[in-house]
Amino acid sequence: MKRIVVLGAGESGTGAAVLAKKQGFDVFVSDLSEIKSSYKIILNEYQIKWEEKQHSESNILNADEVIKSPGIPDKAPLMIKIEENNIPVISEIEFAWRFTDSKMICITGSNGKTTTTSLIYHVLKNAGLDVGLAGNIGNSLAMQVAVDPHQYYVIELSSFQLDHMFEFKADIAILLNITPDHLDRYDYEFQKYIEAKFRIIRNQTENDAFIYWENDPVILKELSKRNIKSSIYPFAIDKSEKTKAFIQNEKLVIDTLKSLFIMPTSELALKGIHNTYNSMAAGLAASVLNVKKDTIRQSLLDFQGVEHRLEYVATVRNVKFINDSKATNVNSCWYALQSMKTPVVLILGGTDKGNDYSEIDELVKEKVRAFVFLGVDNSALNSHFKDAKQQIEEAKSMEEAVNKAYNLAEEGDTVLLSPCCASFDLFENYEDRGRQFKMYVKAL
Ligand code: ADP
Repeated sequence: MKRIVVLGAGESGTGAAVLAKKQGFDVFVSDLSEIKSSYKIILNEYQIKWEEKQHSESNILNADEVIKSPGIPDKAPLMIKIEENNIPVISEIEFAWRFTDSKMICITGSNGKTTTTSLIYHVLKNAGLDVGLAGNIGNSLAMQVAVDPHQYYVIELSSFQLDHMFEFKADIAILLNITPDHLDRYDYEFQKYIEAKFRIIRNQTENDAFIYWENDPVILKELSKRNIKSSIYPFAIDKSEKTKAFIQNEKLVIDTLKSLFIMPTSELALKGIHNTYNSMAAGLAASVLNVKKDTIRQSLLDFQGVEHRLEYVATVRNVKFINDSKATNVNSCWYALQSMKTPVVLILGGTDKGNDYSEIDELVKEKVRAFVFLGVDNSALNSHFKDAKQQIEEAKSMEEAVNKAYNLAEEGDTVLLSPCCASFDLFENYEDRGRQFKMYVKAL
């Protein structure tokens, strides 16, 4: 019997183990950390053997195939041994794909994945399709294939999942943008990260769709080196010969259907130019799937947004508060500032990943009234903004940051939490940071 070893018993690993067990494989699950009790219950229910807080090599190196959680780096000592033993390593998505014929709509990019994935899911649900949400977001694809199958899956894919996908084919692949990220896991070679992202179109034929941002310089350069077999659906603000979704006279136009889809950008639920891109990508995916124009329009109009992404919190004495805690790099803060229509008090800071803040200098000059630096170590921020005209306050807790920002704000301003940084110095994660922000705003 073929032996499958699953490394990492989180959402994806547990799902993969259940699917493997149901398919009759000899399954073993190993996690170096403690396994959450909810996952242990599932593993036990399916009589799957597991271990935690260790990787016992004798139970692992006899695998015919390994399914690895995307969180485990390829350079981990165990992974190197697995490679030396020539054991194939795949991702949960690759494994799940072998056991389903459903349509796969896959989204990747450096920023905007979760927003676009959620939006597409929303459109397809509204269209009445039988659709599941999977990948980095939602429930494990393998688990759904095993116990709750759908005809369509909308899947958010990180570069780490793509790295271990080989035979998988996306019916619709979406590549939103590529900016440097996670380079620590790609030997600090940007090109390796770019190639990982481009695996989203691996195995596609002319019967499959490739939706991408036409003006992304990194994507464009990579495309010029490749022979793309997929049917292409580029989106851009300004139309070129190839563009399938674009803006004309402040209207979003999709030009794939027999007749044009046209919708005023002011009606889009998601604000900001980055979200216009996300809406174009979603609209294209829906039109490739022949969703009715009315349904696409209604869905792009009534989408509720995703928590912690430019999320409106409250207005207190005419000061608006926006939670963009998910902005953990400078590029996403740039887009947040770009979408602001009033003067801004910007709360930023946290664990600095070697950020280059000059990317936001111009928008800061134009829009930021004052800063609150929220972090254990604000030295990188202080040194970058030392000559800035704006008033600067520092805070060591979210409560202090919200109060200081509120005091700095004038009527009509927006207080924006868009930190450019990871949150681990003061918070559990970005969700915790965002929730604390909302809590202290509501207490004002
Ligand atoms: P991801 O899942 O790729 O991390 P999210 O949808 O969670 O992306 O958004 C993360 C951050 O990136 C948000 O703060 C948002 O303001 C910003 N963002 C969203 N879409 C885009 C885009 N298309 N281009 C650039 N930045 C974006």
